[in-house]
Formats: sequence, structure tokens, C-alpha cells
Amino acid sequence: MKIICIGRNYVEHARELNNPLPSSPVFFMKPDSSLLINNKPFFLPDFSNEIHYEAEIVLKISRLGKNIRKQFAPRYYNAIGIGIDFTARDLQEACKKAGHPWEIAKAFDQSAVVNHFIPLSSVPDPQAINFELVVNGKTVQKGNTKDLIFSFDEIIAYVSTFVTLKTGDLIFTGTPAGVGPVKTGDNLVASVEGQVLLDFHVR
Ligand code: ZN
Repeated sequence: MKIICIGRNYVEHARELNNPLPSSPVFFMKPDSSLLINNKPFFLPDFSNEIHYEAEIVLKISRLGKNIRKQFAPRYYNAIGIGIDFTARDLQEACKKAGHPWEIAKAFDQSAVVNHFIPLSSVPDPQAINFELVVNGKTVQKGNTKDLIFSFDEIIAYVSTFVTLKTGDLIFTGTPAGVGPVKTGDNLVASVEGQVLLDFHVR
């Protein structure tokens, strides 16, 4: 399986990092070795001094597809979760300045955190999903997918133009404003429509 991540997909987050708004989705990938599941602890890596959390709604691909048209995109995913796209922000800034790819800042071990997935049909409005990240008891990110620059279906259509989607692939759909650093001992709890789907610690 593979993990596809969309960057700069909420206006307020693009602004907080001084990034221009994209005219088509910006995507990058993480390898399967970046997965961290079952609420296991995240271990801060030695190569960065600034690991940021990014809470994101994650789509689980339910069938094989290529060149998927937007109107057929809903047939290709049926479950959502919430995940953390851990980012070595210091390394990412250096990559951006040098015009280099982002892998060292985005694709490292344990950088893609997910846990429970729920049926898309179980949320009140699949076009407007509320989600939240609480760190040490304090809400730090609050998002609603109605604010996505590129919708789930637009993401699927665009990405599948370049990359065949396979059953079990995950798509991180972008983070809202409020990203920030983590430190040893932090507890991250992420929920969708008030339902906690992810709860783990930083070690
Ligand atoms: Zn992200």
C-alpha cells in the first residue's frame, strides 16, 4: 500500500506557512514504512529539532482505479479516519529553500499516524466533516472538510491521473490551521464528529 498526502489544502493553513494557494492539488507520498498504528507511541527522531503535528482526515481507498472521473470518485473510498502527518518542519524549510524534494521531512518512519477508520456513511454530512486535535487537553486544531480547497472527489480525480489507486491506499487530505511542534510526553487525541479515533503519546 501507499500513502498519498495533499499539501496546502486549507486556506488558513497555507497562509500560516506563507505558502501561495495552489491552482491544482499539491501531493506527495509516504512509504508504507512511515505508518504508525494502534495508538503506539511516536518516538521523536534525532535528525530534527522541530517535528510538527498536522491533523488530517484520511480516506481509505476501497477499489482499484486509474483516471477516475470526479463524478465517479465516491465509488473509490468508503471509510475515513483521522491521522497525523508528522513533518520535520526545519528540514522541510531547508528542502523548500534548496528546491529539493520533501521526503526527508515527510516520509520518515512513524510519520503517518492512523488508527480507527469509520464508514463514511456514519458521519452526518460527508461534505462537511468536523474534526479536532487536542494536545495535552487543549484543542490546537479544529477543521471542517467543507473548507477544503480541493474536495475528496477532486483529489481522487487528480491523483489518479498520475498514480493508480489500489485498495487499502490512504490519502491524507490536508491540515487546517494550527499546526505546531511536539515534545516528549505530549498526548495527542484526534476525533471526528466528537468520536475519538486516535489517542497516543510522544516519547
Ligand atoms: Zn499534511
